[in-house]
Amino acid sequence: MSRVQSKTELLLLQTHLEPQEAKREQDHQQFTKEITTMIVSLRSQFLVNTQKILSENKDIRIRPPHSPNFFNCKFPDCIYCQLRESMEDHLKLMNKSLTAHVTTSAEKQQQTRIFPRKKKQDKINLD
Ligand SMILES: [Zn+2]
Repeated sequence: MSRVQSKTELLLLQTHLEPQEAKREQDHQQFTKEITTMIVSLRSQFLVNTQKILSENKDIRIRPPHSPNFFNCKFPDCIYCQLRESMEDHLKLMNKSLTAHVTTSAEKQQQTRIFPRKKKQDKINLD
């Protein structure tokens, strides 16, 4: 059974160390499933938190929703634009964090290639 794979999926499948392709595919699907579960969970938690914050501040008047085309409307009472801005800020931070992680990993791998650990066989036998 073959299914269409995105460029990202193919890249991830190639980068796994598991030598068996079927196992790599299985691991990748498991990984994708976990990420999706995390995103769904975060989304529902985000909505719960937003609802809680709004219900705790009932005295504040909230501007009705507007077309996303008018983002950013700049009205200080527009919760929708504020939420979107906040989400965008978090996504930028997440991307920054991911980029830093990948860069660090790449640097560590590069150092390992330049200064590979000596194998036991390379040790000089002084006996
Ligand atoms: Zn707005």
